[in-house]
Amino acid sequence: MVSAKQSKKLRILLMPFFATSHIIPFTDLAFHLAAAQPEVVEATIAVTPANASVVRSSLARRGPTSQAAAAVKVATYAFPAVQGLPPGVENLSTAKVADSWRIDVAAFDEALMRPGQESVIREISPDVIITDIHFFWNVDVAADLGVPCITFYAVGTFPTLAIRHIILGRGVGEAAVDGVVTIPRFPAPEIRVPVTELPEFLRSRQQVSDPSTAGDDPINSATSRCFGIVVNTFFDLERGYCELYVANGYVKRAYFLGPLSLPLPPQQATTSTSSTSQQCIDWLDKKLDHSVLYLCFGSFAHVTDAQLHELAMGLEASGKPFLWVVRSDSWAPSEEWTERVGDRGMVVTGWAPQTAILSHRAIGAFVTHCGWNSILEIVVAGVPVLTWPLVFEQFITERFVTQVLGIGARLCPEGAGVVRSTRYQENELIAAEVVARSIATFMESGGEGDAARSRVKELSAKARAAVADGGSSHRDLSRLIDDLIEARSAGAGTTLS
Ligand code: UDP
Repeated sequence: MVSAKQSKKLRILLMPFFATSHIIPFTDLAFHLAAAQPEVVEATIAVTPANASVVRSSLARRGPTSQAAAAVKVATYAFPAVQGLPPGVENLSTAKVADSWRIDVAAFDEALMRPGQESVIREISPDVIITDIHFFWNVDVAADLGVPCITFYAVGTFPTLAIRHIILGRGVGEAAVDGVVTIPRFPAPEIRVPVTELPEFLRSRQQVSDPSTAGDDPINSATSRCFGIVVNTFFDLERGYCELYVANGYVKRAYFLGPLSLPLPPQQATTSTSSTSQQCIDWLDKKLDHSVLYLCFGSFAHVTDAQLHELAMGLEASGKPFLWVVRSDSWAPSEEWTERVGDRGMVVTGWAPQTAILSHRAIGAFVTHCGWNSILEIVVAGVPVLTWPLVFEQFITERFVTQVLGIGARLCPEGAGVVRSTRYQENELIAAEVVARSIATFMESGGEGDAARSRVKELSAKARAAVADGGSSHRDLSRLIDDLIEARSAGAGTTLS
């Protein structure tokens, strides 16, 4: 094997978390690094064996003639034995609900995860490590090897900054008034989030002992120490929040490179189309412009059977055409419902071609759980949203979408008096009538949805400009590569300031 020191190329090793919604943007990042300066950069993605096919199919999406996609290498390391988890189950997005939480907990366990990751890193001996935030110990592994470590954020600066500021403000316990937290030190508008809607790790910890350094938070501590962060966002989308990250000195360097994935022009895209994709597109082709509501809650969040039933009833009562992706181990719509709805609705079980659907002219709005990839995809496609967050940072991102960007509205209005929670057992049902009313109102011609569409169309143009030659994300990609080359020449690794 050619060692990093002998190779002229800058050898970058990327290490994503075990979810398709992380592996895909990591693969996109590897592709862009390889495509930007093919003679300079060599990118390798390290995943566990069951996730290698996710990387390969994401690269294949670039088409058979893409040299940059072909140049990206895939390395594997073993997924550790986790009690209760069947062998080969290594991805939150394809696992059953109960298994996916086991994967999530295991991923943060340094004692469990670090040995396998460290051994593949040492074997490859890269010039740079780009790690997911989950694997915070890789910052120390890189320091030990004397190479820079970059932390890649698969979610935007708004939610990550909000979480950091809650921690710096001494945690949920002290910031909450009447069960609601106002995000400290944020620019206007004021962002208020009920405690029940905050990520589980903030709720269960309640208080932080050392807010001046966030020293008891291994992730924030690692991101402060590492060479810099890469965020899948673009400056014009999160301007004030991007500036805060750097101005507050939370990180040494920040590179805003998104959106990392744009739909490919038809002549570049791979020609193999799955039958589900084709069925969706054929069905949409028969619908009027902006008439269809698309619903999809990402790749792993859980919705209860009772709530799925209410949703089905609400969709039926709304009278609007809809394309609904149902991901459940235990629930499916009844035959009677399917007959009553007829050709007005299409249900896809499992996985749908989301980016192709969003870019179809027939899509009028998207009911989204506010996963960050989905938000970037709607921004690129110019589609307004109804928000239905479920877990993690999604309720915070909802505020960004509705209050800051103004490109959507809540599916369950604030005044509805319904408790929403990141713990799905605590959620109160959003009744079918509420669902039907929100959809019908949002999709009314000349209504809130149309105003949101014109705002998101403006953002869509800015997203494309950001990644085009000379745009902010394009410039940041060059800056990242230049800084890493300089760091290698200086041989300074993480100590370079
Ligand atoms: N996705 C898709 N088809 C599906 C479900 C999800 O293509 O049926 C893609 C979606 O386009 C997005 C990703 O999976 O790129 C989901 O990421 P997001 O951050 O929105 O949500 P998460 O899965 O992390 O909750």
